[in-house]
Amino acid sequence: MISITKKIEFESAHRLSNYLGPCKEIHGHTYKLEVTVTGPIDPDTDMVMDFKELKKILQKAVLNHLDHALILKESEENRKIFSGYSGKITWMETEPTAERMIQWIFLQIRKELPHTIELVDLTLYETSGSFASWKK
Ligand SMILES: [Zn+2]
Repeated sequence: MISITKKIEFESAHRLSNYLGPCKEIHGHTYKLEVTVTGPIDPDTDMVMDFKELKKILQKAVLNHLDHALILKESEENRKIFSGYSGKITWMETEPTAERMIQWIFLQIRKELPHTIELVDLTLYETSGSFASWKK
């Protein structure tokens, strides 16, 4: 199997509202995301997928929503706290932990990929030593 991988970075703030500790406060991370896809090598282009095309998909599926955004669980508490805030908020059904964010990112990317291309691996680094991954 031949696969290709694209790495991107984005800056986001989040808070884990049910967490007993400092992560309950709004804080930021420079997230690093590695996305690996596979598919047949196109005999015309000799590529699984143009890296540029994959980057465009990641821009639409991930960066437009998460980069320089505040990521929050859609809860009554958070709706109340941030009701007067007009900045970029991305609401999630769950707490924005690395594990839940990778699930969310998986669904977002899968929607945008051409039907011949399959996701095989996603890794989201919250810090250089802490990451969540999804594997096919
Ligand atoms: Zn955090």
